[in-house]
Amino acid sequence: MTPSREQIRDRLRECNLRCTRQRELVYRALASTTTHPTAEELYSMVRREDEGTSLATIYNTLEALTRVGLASRIPSVAGGGACRYDACTGPHVHVVTDEGRVMDVPYDLSQRLLGHLPREVLEEMERRMGIAIERVSVQVEARALHHADAV
Ligand SMILES: [Zn+2]
Repeated sequence: MTPSREQIRDRLRECNLRCTRQRELVYRALASTTTHPTAEELYSMVRREDEGTSLATIYNTLEALTRVGLASRIPSVAGGGACRYDACTGPHVHVVTDEGRVMDVPYDLSQRLLGHLPREVLEEMERRMGIAIERVSVQVEARALHHADAV
């Protein structure tokens, strides 16, 4: 669901980001889609509304949005393609298809999967590896079946 202008401004302000037209446009474009666009894809979306936007501005804006937690970066699978971006930053699971599409797993299924990660394994990882786990993201690689459009 596309957030309203007011909601976008509020979110930028809550994150102490100065509310510029570019930031509004980029965030709105990102928040209005579930396709997890690349910077280039966002660039062409934003250019429809503002021809003066440059790709560098898109990258800088995505950097700022990611830094304050309004967007997250999804690294490309197998190192091939470009990074993708997501305005949905809560815990959820992604499915990456062999065609390179990134889809959100429905919320209830994401929660069921993430809720069953064995806590004792995570704790042992922290102890044995000397790390503090901040977040676990799960990405499922899958082959798209033609009848699987109804998620
Ligand atoms: Zn997502």
